[in-house]
Amino acid sequence: MKTRFAGFQPIRPDRLIWGQEYRHDAYKSKHKLPEPTVCPQCGAVVHEGRWQWLPRPAQAHEELCPACHRIHDECPAGFVTIGGTFFKEHRDELLHQVRNDEARAKAEHPLERIIKIEEQDDSILITTTGIHLARGIGEALHHAYKGELEFHYNEQENLLRVVWER
Ligand SMILES: [Zn+2]
Repeated sequence: MKTRFAGFQPIRPDRLIWGQEYRHDAYKSKHKLPEPTVCPQCGAVVHEGRWQWLPRPAQAHEELCPACHRIHDECPAGFVTIGGTFFKEHRDELLHQVRNDEARAKAEHPLERIIKIEEQDDSILITTTGIHLARGIGEALHHAYKGELEFHYNEQENLLRVVWER
């Protein structure tokens, strides 16, 4: 497979050095949010500098979280393309796994969500609000079903494209 994404460099999974901490998604946030801030869309709360699932505070500043902002703008951070004949034959099973991956990621990290699952000619494209979920979906498919896994990273904008085929 060749490079097909302008602005993206192919990258080995183990070369993605993201550190222990999830990098804060600065999408559309121009200033440091006061605490507590609550997202009026999804109810996530900023606590100790990061978005978390917490009970809604009584008095809170309201502002869309980066995930809801990305969903609203249809501006994904992660793109996962899934294709191949094996995929076609096991489509429901694989998509079920993808949904489970999302539920797990989202429970722990409110900013990691699936935006859309789109049908394409010979594949599907899953867009995500966070690059960690895109990576996680690709790695989980690879772990469970082998196949070919590729990562393409756009460092400047911190975007990740994942291609899994089998
Ligand atoms: Zn939100």
